[in-house]
Amino acid sequence: MHILLIEDDKALAESLARALGVKGYVVNAVERGQHGLHALKTDAPDIIILDLGLPDMDGFTVLKRMREVNKELPVLLLTARDSMDAKVTGLDGGADDYLTKPFDMAELFARLRVLERRLSTTKTSAITIGPVALDTAQASVTFNGQALELSRREFMLLRVLMENAGKVLTRASLESRLYSWGEEVASNTVEVHVHHLRKKLGSDFIHTVRGVGYKVALP
Ligand code: CA
Repeated sequence: MHILLIEDDKALAESLARALGVKGYVVNAVERGQHGLHALKTDAPDIIILDLGLPDMDGFTVLKRMREVNKELPVLLLTARDSMDAKVTGLDGGADDYLTKPFDMAELFARLRVLERRLSTTKTSAITIGPVALDTAQASVTFNGQALELSRREFMLLRVLMENAGKVLTRASLESRLYSWGEEVASNTVEVHVHHLRKKLGSDFIHTVRGVGYKVALP
């Protein structure tokens, strides 16, 4: 599950990213609303955690712009404003849920689980391309009908490539999906995962686009 965190409080963003990382979420954290809107297009996150008080634009404005391009994406608002007005404005503006700072991590996780459950019932969870079938809800992959054992990162990498079939994804963008903010990443890590995936899926499913990155071709 890929989370885009838009929060300008560095200390809070870091501790959230770390705690979410431990729970298996991949977190991309940005400090500005503009960067968040950009990441929405380039990162294809599953869930957004959005702070209302941002340095460059109001969180409500970020939410409004997001909703113009994506009505489904779950958005959890964070705010220091514990007023009924802010809650109502946020929920009316298309947010799915709301947490007032300071909040307990356990509560954040519980709210995220609710959003994920809603997501898994609305999203089609199976993608099939050629011999490979990937089920995001079950976290399972079959190749020519045979179940495959993939590591967590191999699964995430394959999922991103299949969800974006036909597009070339750069190594940097793949890396940012596989590893949370602040996590140590070896420089050839994407290549290594691709190498392992090719051993399991054959060499021609994931294409290398020289000097750019990788892609899975559309069927
Ligand atoms: Ca803030």
